[in-house]
Order: sequence, then structure tokens, then C-alpha cells
Amino acid sequence: MKKKTKCILTAVLLPLLLISTAFSQAPPVQEPSSETDIKNALTGGVPMGRWKEGLLFEGVRPMPWLKSAANWFPGTEEVQPDEMRVTFMGSAPNIRPGQMNTSIYVELGNGDNFVFDMGEGAVANYVAARVALNQLKTIFITHLHVDHFGSLPYLYMFGTWAGGWHENLTIYGPSGRTPEYGTKTMVEGMKMMLGWHRDAFSVFPVGKGWDIVVNEFDFRDNGGLIYDKNGVKVIHWQRSHAKDGASGYRLDWNGMCFVWTGDGRPSYLDIKYAKGCDLYITELQPELMEINSGVQGVPPFLARYTVDTHHTPAYASGYLANQIKPRMFMTTHMNFDPFLNEETVAEVREHWKGPYHFGAPDGIVVNMTKDMVWVREGILPDYPNSRAPQFDFTNGQLVVPHPTTSREEIQEPFVREQQIDPEKYYPAGYMPHLLETWPVEGDLVVPIEAMPDKLRDSMGAAWRQKLKNQEILESQSEQ
Ligand SMILES: [Zn+2]
Ligand SMILES: [Zn+2]
Repeated sequence: MKKKTKCILTAVLLPLLLISTAFSQAPPVQEPSSETDIKNALTGGVPMGRWKEGLLFEGVRPMPWLKSAANWFPGTEEVQPDEMRVTFMGSAPNIRPGQMNTSIYVELGNGDNFVFDMGEGAVANYVAARVALNQLKTIFITHLHVDHFGSLPYLYMFGTWAGGWHENLTIYGPSGRTPEYGTKTMVEGMKMMLGWHRDAFSVFPVGKGWDIVVNEFDFRDNGGLIYDKNGVKVIHWQRSHAKDGASGYRLDWNGMCFVWTGDGRPSYLDIKYAKGCDLYITELQPELMEINSGVQGVPPFLARYTVDTHHTPAYASGYLANQIKPRMFMTTHMNFDPFLNEETVAEVREHWKGPYHFGAPDGIVVNMTKDMVWVREGILPDYPNSRAPQFDFTNGQLVVPHPTTSREEIQEPFVREQQIDPEKYYPAGYMPHLLETWPVEGDLVVPIEAMPDKLRDSMGAAWRQKLKNQEILESQSEQ
């Protein structure tokens, strides 16, 4: 035992000792190299004195405020006042651990954020990216294939539970050819499906959490403006995706533009409405029907038929990008596999020679300002902590709405009576203070001064950042 301790001490202390002696002797001062030598060495390999080589293009470079130019670590960087940050929270139609169903998160420097599609499983990536579920309130759905909205029921229920009490969920989505195929009907159906869950969760604070505002627009109204608030504009147009009621979206803010086409065949309308957009994102499928079918174990005609009636061939995506000429072209809704990736790039490059990245696998993040854009891999942990729910403390208080029901109202006494007496399983001398009924009458209103520092700091973090950015934006616009 003693010998072991000694070994550990040596193992720890000896390297420390060596390091400290290494630092105690600074290297000797030497005569500086000539100015020409220094200049030649420090600018050598950088053509014309700036980075523009390989796949990097003018304006495609990391911003100075990024903590790492290679990776994004959630929670370590704030969105800058002038910046648009776009994160791929789900990137494939086939759900699997590294690729959830499609969802794109857009955060703006003015503090607004938007969700474009909310595919199954994407919630896990929002949590890993340190987004509190009650921050997700404005959602645009491109169409009603379940790989584009499958996470909505979870977000609706648990986003409310996790502090989504003070703001409605607002969902934008296309009409169908007839009302039963529109976004409104989907939401009504979802509410019906969640009848039990909603009533069960009404023993918790709900507030406005169960209200959903659905803004269903006519899918035929190409170019129609559906969102115009706080300097942010969103328009939509129809996409050819086998069935009527599929749309593409374009968001404009602060002289920058983001497009997510959703699924569909390449169309002239994409060129018309996405033309010149800074960040153009579409979906694609490479021409590997036979190999892909072998890998997936399905007959090739099924893949061929699916693509030719629903999707954008990779060649066409490059063709579109070359017409639209974005500052950054990205594709998502694609399997990220070695046997597909090389082919995908080759096919895109047939027509498009400009900046191009995959919006896959999950966690790829894009930082964009008016003159710079940079794409990185985000590091999403498998077992993250959830971010604290985020609240607006403008009124100096935290308000927790009173639950609209209680256990007594929704559970028969004979069910509860079968519960085992806690004294039987807690150890002798230990009994927590059980909270079997909601602890207050009416809404709980807590002045922020009365909150523990840690709660106030964590739950007001997004609000404080928004104020800070708005102040900077205002002072910029005054100048
Ligand atoms: Zn899809
Ligand atoms: Zn689809």
C-alpha cells in the first residue's frame, strides 16, 4: 500500500518538477532575422497575402470571435449582433443515431431564432446544442412528410413543461390542395393525438403553452410574405414534391438571406426566389440508385422512382446553385456515407464551382456575416445537460402559472391508494419533504432579486445576451 502511494507521488511530482525547471530558464535572446527574411517566412505560402486557395474562396474564412476555427462547442460562443448562425439539427430522411430527421436552426444577432422543419429526433440535437426547449417558438414546416415535423409533439408537450409558459408556439406551414391536407389540420390532429398527454401535463404550469397559433398560407401564393417582424422577412414558394402542399422558404435579415427549399424537384421558382441569396440550402440525391439500393436492401426502381417524382438529383442541385450563385451553397436531407460523399461532390461540381459544404451530418454549423462565412463541425455530446429554461425578465419577475388541474381531478383515488407508503422504502431516519400537491395558490410571482443567483443567471442568459446585442445594433444604427 505504502509502496503504491510512493509510486503515484513520483509519477505525479516528477513531471511537474521537470516542467517547472524547463520554464525557469528562458531561451537566450538572439539577434532578430532581417526584415526581408521575416516577411518572406511569415507571408510565404499565402498567395497575394491572403487566404484564397483550394476550396476556400473570397470571404470564406473563420471569424476572429470563434473559439475554434475547426469545431463549434455549444455554449461557448454568443451570436454576434450582425451575425446569422445556422445549425443543422437533423440532416437525413433516414433516421439513425448520427443523423436525425431534418431540422435547421437559424439564430439572428437581434436575438430572434427560427426553426425550419422539426424532424423526428432533432430535439435531441437542440438539447445537445444547449438550446432550451422553451426558446423554440417560431417554426416553419416545409411540408407534412413526417421526417419534417415528427418532433413537434414532443416539443409541444415537453417544451411547455420546461418553461414554455409565456409564449405560444407559432407554426407556419402550407395549405394542401384541400383543407384536410393543410398544416392546420395536421396541428388539430396532433392535438387530438396528445389529448391524454395534455390533460396529464396540466398538473404542471401550462400558461399559454397549450395554445398553438397556426399560420397556414396558400401553397400556390408564390413569393407570399408570411413573416415580417423585427427586421426579419420570410417568403415562401411552391415546390414540386409529388403532392400539392410543399414549400420552400427564404428569410431576409440585416442584408443577409437564408434559403431552405425543403424537399422537391428542381424548379424555375427556386431560381427566381433564391437568386443571389447568401446561404442557399437544398436537398439532393446522388445517382447511385443501384449501389444505394444494394446497401439499403431495396430494389433500385424504388429509389429511382422516389427521386424522379420527389427529389433533387445532385447534378440538378449544382445546376441550381450555379444559377442562384450564393456565397455558400449547402445540401442536406442526405445520407452522410463514405460510399456516397465523393460521388455527391463530383456531381454537384459538374455545374457549381463556388463554395460548397454538406449540411450533414448533424451539428454542422454556419457562421455568417455580410462579408464572411464559415462552416464547422459542431461537437454535440451524447449525454448533455439540458439548458435551463430561458425567460424574459424585462418586468423584473419570474411568473410560474398555476396548474390548471390536479391529480385529484384526473386520477381515481383507488389508483393512488395502491401506492406504497414511502416510509417502507426510504431508509430509517430519512424522509424527503414530499410535494404531493402544488405548493402555492394562484400564480407564483418571484421578483428576480429574490431568486438564487444561479437560477437568475442561468434562466436569464439568453435575455441578457439579446439586450446586449440590441444595444450594440441600436448604437450602430445611430452612427
Ligand atoms: Zn424529407
Ligand atoms: Zn418530403
